[in-house]
Amino acid sequence: MITPVNAPVNAPVTVELALSPDEAANTASVERAACRAAGISHAQLQSLRLVRRSIDARGRYPIVRMLVALNETTNETTNETTHETTPAIPTQPPTSPTSQASQPRKHVIIVGSGPAGYFAALELVQHGARVTVLERGRDVRARRRDLRALMQQSIVDPDSNYCFGEGGAGTYSDGKLYTRSSKRGNIRGILETLVAHGATPDILVDAHPHIGSNKLWQVVQNIRESIERLGGEVRFGARVVDVVLNQLGGRPTSIHGVVLADGSEVLGDAVILATGHSARDIYELCAARNIAIEAKSFALGVRVEHPQPLIDEMQYHHTPRNPHLPAASYSLTCQVADRGVYSFCMCPGGLIVPAATAPGEIVVNGMSMSRRDSPFANSGMVVEVTPEHYSPDDPLSALRFQQEVEQRTFAHSGHGTQEAPAQRLVDFIDGRSSTTIPKTSYIPGHVATNLHDILPAAISERLRRGLLVFGKQMRGYVTNEAVLVGVESRTSSPVRIPRDRTTYQHVHVTNLYPCGEGAGYAGGIVSAAMDGVNVAKVIVTALAIG
Ligand SMILES: Cc1cc2nc3c(=O)[nH]c(=O)nc-3n(C[C@H](O)[C@H](O)[C@H](O)COP(=O)(O)OP(=O)(O)OC[C@H]3O[C@@H](n4cnc5c(N)ncnc54)[C@H](O)[C@@H]3O)c2cc1C
Repeated sequence: MITPVNAPVNAPVTVELALSPDEAANTASVERAACRAAGISHAQLQSLRLVRRSIDARGRYPIVRMLVALNETTNETTNETTHETTPAIPTQPPTSPTSQASQPRKHVIIVGSGPAGYFAALELVQHGARVTVLERGRDVRARRRDLRALMQQSIVDPDSNYCFGEGGAGTYSDGKLYTRSSKRGNIRGILETLVAHGATPDILVDAHPHIGSNKLWQVVQNIRESIERLGGEVRFGARVVDVVLNQLGGRPTSIHGVVLADGSEVLGDAVILATGHSARDIYELCAARNIAIEAKSFALGVRVEHPQPLIDEMQYHHTPRNPHLPAASYSLTCQVADRGVYSFCMCPGGLIVPAATAPGEIVVNGMSMSRRDSPFANSGMVVEVTPEHYSPDDPLSALRFQQEVEQRTFAHSGHGTQEAPAQRLVDFIDGRSSTTIPKTSYIPGHVATNLHDILPAAISERLRRGLLVFGKQMRGYVTNEAVLVGVESRTSSPVRIPRDRTTYQHVHVTNLYPCGEGAGYAGGIVSAAMDGVNVAKVIVTALAIG
């Protein structure tokens, strides 16, 4: 289909192409197909730009769908085609701050250097605010050593792990960058900022953009350097343990600073609380200081892992998969007894990782490298946790429920390590312990068990029935080669820190800005980053910055 753009000679036209993976990987083939679709000769083609790319595996053979924009030359003899597989790359670093005349600069304290915290910081320094980012964990490089100790020796550092440390939970994640929260902000702007800091420009065109854990840390480090270059300060090993509040009748009314673990105070004009969904001490601090919080639903289950070639075969109908196709993924969802059962954060070609944030608990999650080339495909497989499991009147009850399951999982595995309970999918459905577990990607190891003994019955029975439904949706999914590893419990925050819809300030505490996933206003890297930008913009106006 050709979409002519309303303009005279040489105006770009966009055309949709459906190509085989081999054709899509070959520049000359793409150009030929685009010229054919646009009705021009190859000699008339001046430039070609890829706008969008997705894999369509619904038919017998997978096809690559592309939207490309072409420019036609008016002079065939001087034709030299430029072919961009990606759009123009935004390479400019963030611009210098706009001056605040001679007034003292407003000081914004940001707690947490995850996507919410760092994107808020970037936005604020660009407007000329004085910004201090306080991060309990270590910088991305030092954090890698702590992750190695976690993987190989089961040492859980409560300040530096898969959830805590520079870049937050997103840094050593899968780095999937798609979000359903398109109404919450400028997704394209977030992706462009990531590209400007070193992410592959492919993320601007792919329908399912992905960076990969091996590349994300560098992007995070570059973002920090931009924040610092524009005058911001980032402090590591800076765990916030208390808040400095104004009170009236024992109730907090406004915040003007925070207290660090070393006893020092950091005072400012506003505090952004972007501490992520695993900062239980922050929720406890809020409860202790009478800062209103609410219990919130989340989801609980396991990771399910298949050999990647099996998923490729199910999705692409061929094995081995074409080398120009990415490792296949899936997304499954159904309702069982009035509750959602669904796949979550699917990691094709990835690894299951230990994501606990304190000793004495086991939590699993998934990540992958940019090439997605591990022989395993894992995904969270979770059931909605509804208020029947906690008390909506007790703000910390959903958190306690989550914590108890994680501690029970640790106790059940019995070795005092991060070895996780595992069970073949087929045995889980039949309700019996597995006697053997095939090799998985989970490095700390596993203990064969019956996961029904660990998960609450209302969750595990729905999970069992959901897996049976998924076995019908994807033929071959229920196989003896698939393994469940428990528990996947950090799907989203079990607590919300309520804020005003317009001012983004806490409903009772002026100048306190709950932000990102930990506050209950985001789920995933891009939506957390967008929330950070949104909160920063509101602060710029509220404090008349810039
Ligand atoms: C293994 C793994 C894989 C994931 N894969 C993906 C994926 O592929 N795609 C995706 O979109 N999402 C993924 N996620 C989820 C994603 O990482 C989060 O949704 C996102 O990082 C939330 O951003 P945030 O800034 O709100 O909080 P976080 O990223 O959690 O950042 C919070 C930060 O606050 C710091 N902090 C906490 N308490 C304190 C304190 N008291 N004092 C100072 N600092 C504190 C923490 O150390 C942390 O750095 C994954 C998560 C994990 C763990």
